[in-house]
Amino acid sequence: MAALIEGRTGEWELVIGLEVHAQAITEAKLFSGASAGFGAEANTHVSLIDAAMPGMLPVINERAVEQAVRTGLGLKAEINRVSVFDRKNYFYPDLPQGYQISQFSQPVVGKGEIVLDMEGGESRAVGITRIHLEQDAGKSVHDRDPGHTLVDLNRAGVPLMEIVSEPDLRSPEEAAAYLAKLRSILRYLGTCDGNMEQGSMRCDANVSVRRPGEPLGTRCEIKNVNSIRFLRQAIAYEAQRQVELIESGERVVQETRLYDAERGVTRSMRSKEEAHDYRYFPDPDLLPLTLTEDYIEGIRATLPELPDEKKARFVAEYGLTEYDAGVLAAEREIAEFFEAVARGRDAKAASNWVTGELFGALNRRGVEIADSPVSAASLGALIDLIADGTLSNRIAKDVFEAMLETGRDAASIVEEKGLKQVSDTGAIEAAVDAAIAGGAKQVAQYRGGNEKILGWFVGQVMKATQGKANPQMVNEILKKKLGG
Ligand code: ADP
Ligand code: MG
Repeated sequence: MAALIEGRTGEWELVIGLEVHAQAITEAKLFSGASAGFGAEANTHVSLIDAAMPGMLPVINERAVEQAVRTGLGLKAEINRVSVFDRKNYFYPDLPQGYQISQFSQPVVGKGEIVLDMEGGESRAVGITRIHLEQDAGKSVHDRDPGHTLVDLNRAGVPLMEIVSEPDLRSPEEAAAYLAKLRSILRYLGTCDGNMEQGSMRCDANVSVRRPGEPLGTRCEIKNVNSIRFLRQAIAYEAQRQVELIESGERVVQETRLYDAERGVTRSMRSKEEAHDYRYFPDPDLLPLTLTEDYIEGIRATLPELPDEKKARFVAEYGLTEYDAGVLAAEREIAEFFEAVARGRDAKAASNWVTGELFGALNRRGVEIADSPVSAASLGALIDLIADGTLSNRIAKDVFEAMLETGRDAASIVEEKGLKQVSDTGAIEAAVDAAIAGGAKQVAQYRGGNEKILGWFVGQVMKATQGKANPQMVNEILKKKLGG
């Protein structure tokens, strides 16, 4: 789905590659025993190693390695038996070591892929180039003291997985779909919580434009984009900027830019000339990381069913549309909720209730499915009341509203409010007779061939029965009595 950009001088193709920093879920930091937890008071999660005291030695956190390998396996990637930790040297106040320990020439994970589901049922494979493990830096705090910049080292040394994509993405929408899919997979795997607001997932977007079929153009890198919406906006702006630049006879210069979400523009941060020479070299304090076949296979054996497989199973097992299956499989909690509702019931009905009424209600309340006021079991029980004819779909929606309000189950609400559907032939016939008697004009229209007028009779009967008449029976009896 290469959405071409219409320029003044013809069409341009947009090329995007993403670098995503995902914080690995671990108790401790990558090379020390200090807590990797979020939100603590400044500088309370700092060991002597994180503060880079002289003589301190890093020790690899096995859990972080496991999380990186698990992520690699989840992205169907090659796991490298041997990888190396390098020092990436640069000076910054929030980096006490004077270097970051990262992986450069030999990362722990090699090539993999992510499949994107685009609109219209299309799917696209996007290449993963590599995943490497690295330490996060600390944080400079500029707004606490008017005269000074303060430093918080709680994040210093927290384990990050940097997930680098091939330049395979072709539109802001594809980039957004990639990031959403990656986050979904990481959350399924339990390797990153995907929380972009708290910074446990951040994204750098590399953007260039070219004439279709030409070699890759010069790219700019937009740093630290922290939401999917901003990613889409930043890429769209940057692509337009580059097209206008080239069309007015200038050149794109390779540089690092920042997205200013308030103004909706990207701005130059530093040019290639100012780029750091990181002087990478293997960290002499750390041995190469070597993984055995057994170790890798042991992790593979514990992988959960991932969104693509789950989606395929929902289509095959429950007969859902690709679209509905994709929506229900995108989040593990939603998928589990849906399956609990669908088990032993009409899966289409379960899917409609979850993606329709339930999602609508959760959105209005701004709550996650984990905090749904209606449990899967009680939604299931409501659907059972429709299936056995106790409730019409219409009334069931009112009952659902009452369930949301009160947290009570469907049966007790139906009982208390007397909402049971009328399926008693005698009662419906009486209401049908009354409607026919009161609608001489409509009867003539119906018999004259206007079948749509049947709706008027249905309305009359429903009014007379407070909406409780079984609609299927109303239709049948009406047609019989009106003749036709
Ligand atoms: P660096 O190490 O300088 O960040 P890499 O070669 O590792 O550079 O590439 C980083 C990211 O930039 C990758 O996601 C890659 O897909 C992307 N990329 C490389 N060249 C281009 C290009 N011409 N246009 C868009 N993205 C690109
Ligand atoms: Mg980069």
